[in-house]
Amino acid sequence: MSENFKAILIEDTDAGAVAALKEITIEDLPDRDVLVEVRYSSLNYKDGLALGGNRSKVARTLPMVGGIDLAGTVVESRSPEWKAGDQVLVNGWGMSESNWGGYSMYQRVDPGWLVRLPDAFTPQQAMAIGTAGYTAALCVNALEKWGALPDGGGDVLVTGAAGGVGSVAIALLAAQGQRVTASTGRADSHDYLRGLGAHATLDRNELSSKGRPLQKERWSCAIDSVGSSTLVNVLAQTAYGGAVAACGLAGGPDLPGTVLPHILRGVALLGVDSVMAPMPLREAAWARLARDLKPELLADMTRVEPMSQIIDQAGEILAGRVQGRVVVDVT
Ligand code: NDP
Repeated sequence: MSENFKAILIEDTDAGAVAALKEITIEDLPDRDVLVEVRYSSLNYKDGLALGGNRSKVARTLPMVGGIDLAGTVVESRSPEWKAGDQVLVNGWGMSESNWGGYSMYQRVDPGWLVRLPDAFTPQQAMAIGTAGYTAALCVNALEKWGALPDGGGDVLVTGAAGGVGSVAIALLAAQGQRVTASTGRADSHDYLRGLGAHATLDRNELSSKGRPLQKERWSCAIDSVGSSTLVNVLAQTAYGGAVAACGLAGGPDLPGTVLPHILRGVALLGVDSVMAPMPLREAAWARLARDLKPELLADMTRVEPMSQIIDQAGEILAGRVQGRVVVDVT
């Protein structure tokens, strides 16, 4: 175990909260029961907010080690559930908000946060999935549990399609036999989205302005990571008895709509949270990913970056310029 190691620390300075690559030691880590040697983390929209944007609203206590995900190997454990050598991952649980996170070569975490690394994935692949991909799986599972995923396949919409949640959602839904329409603002991502299994693409501008409260019924169900008027239009276009799994706010946190899709068409709005999701939901999401996500598609949507690049990449993800997933090599 090296004396000093690298971590991205968000610290209070005269200029406000500032993120920087620093050296820390094992003694600096919080006193939690399981010490993990982190191999990879990932970059999500929330990491962008924590490092590059609205820091105070994500990293609520400072100093904070960023990174809402980690994958690696248990080094020491005071819990009987875990032993040295176990391969594990963590998503959420307030990491980078009120608990130190995965942008660090070592981290201490609570035993109840850990998921055993599925046999199907290496640590790098697990972080190619990361919170974004695991949330996409939570959304698919929520739609399935609600009975909104058509058995023989139907028309399903994914918004924020070229982003992390959207990319994995398309791959999972296509693997399930759904005809996926990918809503995107990037014309140059159409080939990429079709490669993931999208049947058609839709310009996101068609969904972003105020529309009628009830529109033509186009979708059996949908996964939305954009929010705001986009989500309102998606609800207005969802077929009778359908459902929309909503997990994101890339287009804004407001919901400027009416109750009409809900009370006249029985459309359900299923809220999806990844951070505090109970363990059975997490395990079911990872089981779906292990079963349905083809490794070659995962490779197509992923690039690996060193920690030294992540503060710059945080700005890129907030600007909507990151396609697919970014894995963070913390070594
Ligand atoms: P990404 O930045 O990778 O993807 C977001 C995508 O949304 C972009 O790629 C873009 O897609 C689209 N988008 C961006 N800005 C706008 C805009 N102004 N209007 C319309 N579309 C826009 O982020 P993630 O996939 O990591 O996360 C997506 C969202 O889901 C975020 O809001 C994130 O906070 C949320 N999230 C929530 C979780 C939860 O627990 N509830 C967990 C994980 C994520 P395109 O280029 O194709 O148009």
